[in-house]
Amino acid sequence: MLPRATGARASSLAYVSVGMTLLLLATSVGCDFLGLIVPAPASAPSWPTEVLPSRPPRPPSDGIYTETEPNDTFEDADVVAASGDVDLVGTLAGTGSAADIDIFRLPGGQAEDRVHVTVETITGSGVVVALLDARQRLLAYLDPMSRLNSPPEIDLILREPTDHFFVVVTSLFPMSWEIPYTVRFSLEPVAGRPLYRSQVLVLNFDGADDVRIGYRTSVAIPPFDVSLIDERLAGQTQIVAEHIVAMVREDFRGLGLAVYRSGDPAIPQGPRHTVHFGLYDERLLGLAENIDPYNSNPQQEAIVFTDSFALFSVFRPSAQQIAQTLANVASHEAGHLLGLRHTRDVHDIMDTTASARQMMVNQWFRSAQLHETVLPVGFQDSPALLAWTLGGQLVGPTAGKVFEAQMARLMDDPNDFHIPRELLSTCTCGQDHDEW
Ligand SMILES: [Zn+2]
Repeated sequence: MLPRATGARASSLAYVSVGMTLLLLATSVGCDFLGLIVPAPASAPSWPTEVLPSRPPRPPSDGIYTETEPNDTFEDADVVAASGDVDLVGTLAGTGSAADIDIFRLPGGQAEDRVHVTVETITGSGVVVALLDARQRLLAYLDPMSRLNSPPEIDLILREPTDHFFVVVTSLFPMSWEIPYTVRFSLEPVAGRPLYRSQVLVLNFDGADDVRIGYRTSVAIPPFDVSLIDERLAGQTQIVAEHIVAMVREDFRGLGLAVYRSGDPAIPQGPRHTVHFGLYDERLLGLAENIDPYNSNPQQEAIVFTDSFALFSVFRPSAQQIAQTLANVASHEAGHLLGLRHTRDVHDIMDTTASARQMMVNQWFRSAQLHETVLPVGFQDSPALLAWTLGGQLVGPTAGKVFEAQMARLMDDPNDFHIPRELLSTCTCGQDHDEW
């Protein structure tokens, strides 16, 4: 559990300062307006494994494989013949410009096989490790510098068979010196059935006291008021809230996730994720506690800073349009709490590259290219990951709605602008701030 009650002591000022430091250090920061913060790792309990309650003992290695360059693409991946357990040993080149990337191809596995991956490298080097399936889809991610970005190890029960795995090793930012690493990969056949974690999601428009996310000081969130976004919409707050609930429900339709509006007497007892709507933040549009692969923590919070959306009033949005913009961001933040990362596909909910005008059009969970701040190669198949996490199967938008959204995003608008994400964000999407 990573409840806000275990939150950090660091002041938000220090947090911003560290965020800015990282901004200077790493062009890869760009994690946009959709920030991610988590309570202090030092005081937090260890992250639960993704699917099972205890970490498995690591069996002895069957072999050690040392990388051979070039191995920067899937086509050039180092082919590792040993199945089962193997150590992947390599060095990320220190070019000082683009980060090196090493890709290994290993024999695949079957559904219910258990994959365990750890990495040993220089502390603070920014090395990340990704496990992908044969379709180059991200299965799991390891970022030793950040417990907001990943658990400390990959411990995954496969949901689907894969002909082979790719293990991708790279650094979140280019270094001017070499970084050695050892990735320890284990595969245990038929280890157990995956657990699906269905989820309750409450969209809170009624305000809340003492909402504390990560390092931030606790805030009181006033009730949602759409007139603070655009006074032309005064009196339509309830209509917009209803639209948002319907849109977020549509985003997750078919999956094991039940969306409720705050105050609904039908909200079941028990853990729930809550997305609060309200408040202004000069640097953020949205904020979630962390990226939680496979939804290991069923009770977390996020905020959509609705008053910050006054940025969009230049477009003179309709109630429907502003609801769509807020719903896109709400589903994005919920996506983080369910384990999803950033992509670069303007139609995808986890995208961070859309212009302001493009953000006002319906987005949906779809397979999309990962954002380079996550990984410079590979895809995130959100419909599959959400189904593997929550159970069920995503229905997705109709072909007509997809076409409509695609057409709408092609329209030029002289008022359009790109959200200055590096200015709006205090988030580093990959680094723990207390370690800097
Ligand atoms: Zn985000």
